[in-house]
Amino acid sequence: MRKLASIQRIKALDPIAGADAIERATVLGWQLVVKKGEFKVGELCVYCEVDCLMPDEPNFEFLKPRGMRIKTVRLRGQISQGICFPLSILPVGFDVQEDVDCTTVLGITKYEPPIPACLNGVAKGAFPSFIPKTDETRVQVLQNLLDQYKGEACYVTEKLDGSSVTFYVNNREFGVCTRNLELVEDPENTIWKIARELDISDKLRAIGMNIAIQGEVIGEGVQGNPLKLRGQTVRFFNVFDIDRREHSSFDKLKDLIRGLSLEMVPIVAPDYKLENDINAIVMMATRKSLVCPDAWAEGIVIRPLIECRDPVIGRVSFKAINPEFLLKSGQ
Ligand code: ATP
Ligand code: MN
Repeated sequence: MRKLASIQRIKALDPIAGADAIERATVLGWQLVVKKGEFKVGELCVYCEVDCLMPDEPNFEFLKPRGMRIKTVRLRGQISQGICFPLSILPVGFDVQEDVDCTTVLGITKYEPPIPACLNGVAKGAFPSFIPKTDETRVQVLQNLLDQYKGEACYVTEKLDGSSVTFYVNNREFGVCTRNLELVEDPENTIWKIARELDISDKLRAIGMNIAIQGEVIGEGVQGNPLKLRGQTVRFFNVFDIDRREHSSFDKLKDLIRGLSLEMVPIVAPDYKLENDINAIVMMATRKSLVCPDAWAEGIVIRPLIECRDPVIGRVSFKAINPEFLLKSGQ
């Protein structure tokens, strides 16, 4: 579970060129601007990530003009992600320990972008329990994992900012799902239209196994269409074997999606030796899109070439979001 707000240590404080009232703090793998002198290196604070929706209270009143939402900003040329508050914002008696989640106790919720109207439909039910929902952890909280997997052969894909879809065949039954729901068949719904156009149900049935494929719908009407596409399309990033409960490794994922005449998400690097340097990975994510070269990419997703699982995060797969993309799109 993502900790939107937690108790964290100020790892470093560095000057910002040309600014004397503010400085750059490093917390987890995040960089943010703080008032000079407000914190000391090694001190604990309450760190709130981007996407936090803060409650309407005096401590957070300065966020009112921004709809109480914590976003990526740039101050004096320095990108700043998240906000550090002193521990005194915690209720009296709160047991202060590093890394403890304080999202709920502070009344913080998460900003969620709405599901685009063209993807909405009548729910057939909850998301199927036999398929994992799509999700990616942010690299900024994964320093330990990076240290452990340093040097691992990985592949890097472009993260597309659209809406997650899942198509599956289970016991010959075909299903279409948004991020959190399975949808009743509907000729007006974009995902069902795409399924029909690309003949996905017959293609999946022809494989002859219980299987799910997951991808991102992008294009007109979806998340402001940052890649300026005409119409809508889907680019895939997961193949899941329902009976074996396994995601396919890179080679099989690529071959299977190509074999179905479908498209994968763009491949940024087919063989990347994992570095344990969060800033270097964020730098790699700061790139233009392979789909639309004059638009910023939303970011990247990194996975080992051979699928593996970790006791802390489960599937080893994570994202780095392009801060320039977040600034441009007001997130
Ligand atoms: P958070 O978990 O950080 O609060 P979130 O759950 O809304 O945010 P996203 O930032 O949307 O997650 O990132 C995860 C999603 O990215 C996946 O669910 C998937 O739909 C989408 N995605 C887009 N491109 C890719 C890709 N190349 N590889 C994997 N997932 C991708
Ligand atoms: Mn998530």
